[in-house]
Amino acid sequence: MAWLYRIGLLVLVLAGSGCAVPIISERELQVQSDAEFQKMRNQMVESRDARVRGYVQCVSDAILAEVQQPYASLNWEVVVFDDEAVNAFALPGGQIGVFTGLLKVAENQDQLAAVIGHEVAHVTERHSYEQVNRQVTTQAGVYAGAAVLGGGQTTYDLLSMGAQIGITLPYGRGAESEADVVGLRYMAEAGFDPRASVQLWKNMDAKGGASPPEFLSTHPSSGTRISGLIALLPEALDGFNAARAEGKRPDCRR
Ligand SMILES: [Zn+2]
Repeated sequence: MAWLYRIGLLVLVLAGSGCAVPIISERELQVQSDAEFQKMRNQMVESRDARVRGYVQCVSDAILAEVQQPYASLNWEVVVFDDEAVNAFALPGGQIGVFTGLLKVAENQDQLAAVIGHEVAHVTERHSYEQVNRQVTTQAGVYAGAAVLGGGQTTYDLLSMGAQIGITLPYGRGAESEADVVGLRYMAEAGFDPRASVQLWKNMDAKGGASPPEFLSTHPSSGTRISGLIALLPEALDGFNAARAEGKRPDCRR
């Protein structure tokens, strides 16, 4: 009952301040993501291997060339972290992080493009933004209640909490499937062979491990993901062949 009372207070607070849901704008989320990424760079070791960095940048550039506005104008940035974890991510501010451990599982440029395409798709499909605002809308009741009762929570706290949630929590299954679909399109249109995505996920599956990487975290099973990708391959191959005919032949080497 206390919770219902607080939600009631929230409605009053929001109505009184003229504040509309969603609370966190895309721009605000990008600013938060810049700060979070800076923290990560301070805490983690970046690869000093120019060839590896050049390789990841090359694949990322080819994928990013297929991204539409307004995301094409985002300040995209690619960083390779020297870390054995099999992982990669992309933040709403346009920061792409690839861990060197991933490069042992993604065996070639096409498989790496499958991962980067998927991560970039999370950004362009605004998955963090949707997730943050879902969470904030739910949690705001508690915060607003606290504020009214003298807790002193501010918009900044909400923003900070939202960014944390958007960056650290796994996406839902719907978002994962969407990132697979859009990511496959990006890689194919960039001239990477979309069939490599199937092998990539098989490699991931074989790798397994106690803490699955972001892109495996919330999917029902890799089998379901792989059959989903196979169903999308005919269309992706059309895009791939068209890209090749246009002369898009990425040649990224490590
Ligand atoms: Zn994902």
